[in-house]
Amino acid sequence: MLKDKVKGFYIRHVLRKQVPISFDKNNTVSFLDAEPLTTGQVYCVINFDDLSPLPDKSRFIGRGGSKEDFVSLKQMELLKQFPFLGITHFMIPQFLPSDHYYLINRKQFSIINHVNREWLDYYKSLMADYNVEIASHGVYHRQAGNPLFARHTEFAYLDYKESVERLKLSLRIFHEAGFNPIGFRAPGWDMNSDLSLIDAIADTGFKYAGLSSYDGGLNAVKQRVHHFHPVFIKGIINFPDNINIDWPFEKIKETIDKIIRLNGIIVIKGHFSKHILTNSLSETNYLKLVETVRYIRREYSETVKFATFADVYSKLAADNVTGTKQKQH
Ligand SMILES: [Zn+2]
Repeated sequence: MLKDKVKGFYIRHVLRKQVPISFDKNNTVSFLDAEPLTTGQVYCVINFDDLSPLPDKSRFIGRGGSKEDFVSLKQMELLKQFPFLGITHFMIPQFLPSDHYYLINRKQFSIINHVNREWLDYYKSLMADYNVEIASHGVYHRQAGNPLFARHTEFAYLDYKESVERLKLSLRIFHEAGFNPIGFRAPGWDMNSDLSLIDAIADTGFKYAGLSSYDGGLNAVKQRVHHFHPVFIKGIINFPDNINIDWPFEKIKETIDKIIRLNGIIVIKGHFSKHILTNSLSETNYLKLVETVRYIRREYSETVKFATFADVYSKLAADNVTGTKQKQH
């Protein structure tokens, strides 16, 4: 496509950066020979992108930034009805929702801004009462180097060193706020074309990442990792995303049946917003999520255990992480 060519030219010669993996058609790197990781159990992880202190009443798309927000109320309803669920949130610790916030007020939507303290305490109490995990979704969500270009792909243009710096900043903010995330997902899912982001994730101490959907992240342009199983890549575990709450319920059911047959992992993915974004937790999608949990409980109560990614990581680490396997990359 001409548009991609123009973009590619702009990135390589004007920005002097590498192109993101999502439009590097010549990149042949693949992890498809990596051994699928399994346990004696099929796990089901519900996970959301974008939780951050942006409430519905802000002038941006709300991301669960108030406990009165639609998605926060729905989450509470879900957990009260099914207290055994595990939910992993990929949280944006210091969202920059528009250019304005690049220049001034950078910390308005930061989890360490004291105005967000009450909201943060709400999440801490939720984590104490239920199986809720906070993982890292970068720092700003947008790529901070050039606010006029490709805005919601924070890591797509960063090299290894810049990625390490950004991930360390993410961890510093989370630690200061009282969280210790072990998982990471890149905002916008895109990453740099030499895939050194994966090394940066491992080298800054993260244990796992959710870097792939059917056609996004590591699987943009071509499939590089398995859709239905976690795998080791470059020293971390990649968890795929394989059920989207925008899908019709029939497709969700069929995919769950398939994953059970393959002894894989069921990963149900949503955006923690009420509307507009793909896989948003709208009323319709919420009802589908409830139906999905009921379906799994009814058909596969013996086989499937609900968990967070951190839970599954611990189980896989205990069962599979041996010196030899870690050295394979
Ligand atoms: Zn996101």
